[in-house]
Amino acid sequence: MAKPLIDLHLHTYYSDGTFTPEQVAAAAEEMQLAAISLTDHDTIEGCPRLAKACAERDIEFIPGTELSVDIDGHEMHLLGYFLDTDNEQLVHETSRYQQNRTDRVLGLVNQLNEMGVGLSADDVFNLAKCKAPGRPHVARALVKEGFCGSTDEAFSRFLRKGAPAWVPKVNADYREGIKLIHQAGGLAVMAHPGLNKIDHLIPEMVQAGLDGLECWHTRHPKSTAKRYREMADRYGLIITGGSDCHGAGRGHPLIGTVRVPYEILENMKRRLPSPNSLLN
Ligand code: AMP
Ligand code: ZN
Ligand code: FE
Ligand code: FE
Repeated sequence: MAKPLIDLHLHTYYSDGTFTPEQVAAAAEEMQLAAISLTDHDTIEGCPRLAKACAERDIEFIPGTELSVDIDGHEMHLLGYFLDTDNEQLVHETSRYQQNRTDRVLGLVNQLNEMGVGLSADDVFNLAKCKAPGRPHVARALVKEGFCGSTDEAFSRFLRKGAPAWVPKVNADYREGIKLIHQAGGLAVMAHPGLNKIDHLIPEMVQAGLDGLECWHTRHPKSTAKRYREMADRYGLIITGGSDCHGAGRGHPLIGTVRVPYEILENMKRRLPSPNSLLN
């Protein structure tokens, strides 16, 4: 029998993904995944719906999120796993992260307007229809309103870091993010470290309580995954992985295409503080 596989990095339309939670569950079933986690940017809102859709398909579901935080002037993404989605502080604090996203969209639109691109903030918010809007929504709105031919063009002309309409997002400090995840019963994992150039800051994160590194990711070549597995070993961190699927995109969705074995989830459960540490 084939080894059971999991995908611990997925997005829905509660942030910048395009799938509904039910579409994610259906795609996970099609890929025969044993377990998945929802890690929408700065929100846990989609988790109850995806938990239900997974239960109906006998797929194990891990409530998660992907927080945008700052470390030493760099933005990084912090994954939270096994979160209590009713945790009051988590619900309250993520609404602040969402406000930072909304403010950032206003900043991007303002820059676009300064450049003579007549996109309105409502064009973006009406398209995003979620509390955690981001640059992909601005890109889609630029296409919808006829300012760009594709979202790729929108990023390369206007939105990528360093492009003329780019503005930074105000983020919480990474230590706050780690604490927020921990007090909600979760594990804090650095997302796609290969996409950040901040390996030298990983020891500081470990000091602050970081639990793990996301080693397998769509944009990590094999050698990168190996490097972070070795680093995780050195620092006593757990390793995780996921596709970072945002929907169907141009072709087949990415969900399940990064091969992460189920044992990874068992190791994560062992890392949880009791009483959650009981394996099921
Ligand atoms: P934000 O969190 O608003 O800064 O947006 C980041 C998201 O935009 C990432 O999760 C990616 O899904 C997407 N993204 C970032 N850079 C690009 C790019 N160059 N082209 C297309 N999508 C991108
Ligand atoms: Zn995203
Ligand atoms: Fe990310
Ligand atoms: Fe992501």
